[in-house]
Amino acid sequence: MSPDINPVDPSLPLDPLPGHSSRGRLERVLRRGEFAVTAELNPPDSADPNEVYERAAIFDGWVDGVNAVDASGANCHMSSVGICALLTRMGYAPIMQIACRDKNRIAIQGDVLGASAMGVQNILCLTGDGVQGGDQPGAKPVFDLDSMSLLETIRTMRDEAKFLSGRKLSTPPTVFLGAAINPFVPPFDFRPLHFAKKIRAGAQFVQSQYCYDVALFREFMKRVRDMGLNEQCYILVGVGPLASAKTARWMKNNVPGVHIPDAVIKRIEGAKDQKNEGKRLCIDIIDEVKEIEGVHGVHVMAYRQEEYVAEIVHESGVLKGRSPWKREARRDESQVVERLEHLLNRDAVSPQEMAGRAAHPEKV
Ligand SMILES: Cc1cc2nc3c(=O)[nH]c(=O)nc-3n(C[C@H](O)[C@H](O)[C@H](O)COP(=O)(O)OP(=O)(O)OC[C@H]3O[C@@H](n4cnc5c(N)ncnc54)[C@H](O)[C@@H]3O)c2cc1C
Repeated sequence: MSPDINPVDPSLPLDPLPGHSSRGRLERVLRRGEFAVTAELNPPDSADPNEVYERAAIFDGWVDGVNAVDASGANCHMSSVGICALLTRMGYAPIMQIACRDKNRIAIQGDVLGASAMGVQNILCLTGDGVQGGDQPGAKPVFDLDSMSLLETIRTMRDEAKFLSGRKLSTPPTVFLGAAINPFVPPFDFRPLHFAKKIRAGAQFVQSQYCYDVALFREFMKRVRDMGLNEQCYILVGVGPLASAKTARWMKNNVPGVHIPDAVIKRIEGAKDQKNEGKRLCIDIIDEVKEIEGVHGVHVMAYRQEEYVAEIVHESGVLKGRSPWKREARRDESQVVERLEHLLNRDAVSPQEMAGRAAHPEKV
């Protein structure tokens, strides 16, 4: 049996391990020295849980964690806490993102306790994009905390079992703490120092902004190694396929913090099948960054191209034959499916007819 499954129920946290902060799979994979893969889930504009389940199922067996974003770009979608509630029910390992833009310290600390109680084992702490870039620029920005003070707050809750106020927690949250880094925008000298500050505040893993400039990333990693930061924190490099040269140009000009060199755009523009070239470029980038000393994994952000994640992970060979956890129907669910199939076959009626019979029992 895989050590990453709770034999009682896959939706329950794993047994605690000495030296681990969380009871989750992502921390185990990284601490075992395996190359980790995480993926961002595109949050639905919907109240239908199946939209979350369908999107998560695409990653099944390919990733060690699923990021639930918190209104990135300051655009409203299903909340990260809601998505995480659904994902933990199904046994997935969510990485709950918290942006400080929309909630004060009281709301955030409550969310951390609620999330941990639901089985969330990983939290990514972000200051968050400003409201001016989103679809509701008149919204009131909160920013009571920022990424540093958020990391410190959750670390205090976890390690000292108390709220920021000093009030005691009877059970502290067991979470693996993460943050974002962006090595791709100036001031470049400041980026490793900012990263070091996040580690001091409590970051145990980081996920980077999209990497389309491997040379720039190598420079950053050299500084990171000189400062010993890769020994203190797990580094996952953000990657993603570009759907077309037009998309690349749009991202370059409109998404704050995203840097795409002109050579990359030219490569995609020159291809017959731009979508396929965007995917190939992503695989090529993974091939290069996985060899850089101090890199511990990749974070795939395949916005509206999630169907390519399995192919990208497979073709890049980053898992080296390893199979991350895959959701399987629980025994009770398969019994229900079996029983339904049996009933449907015996009566030779379609689900629609069954629904009709239920609505008009007098006709049966
Ligand atoms: C993997 C990933 C996931 C993300 N998910 C979300 C999300 O769910 N929701 C969301 O709203 N946003 C999200 N973002 C966007 C992110 O919030 C912004 O890119 C942000 O500008 C940088 O990350 P941060 O929030 O950790 O900010 P911080 O690193 O805390 O920095 C806050 C801001 O101050 C700037 N800054 C701080 N100090 C200096 C300095 N001395 N000189 C110059 N600039 C400085 C930073 O560049 C940044 O703009 C995500 C980004 C990444 C990489």
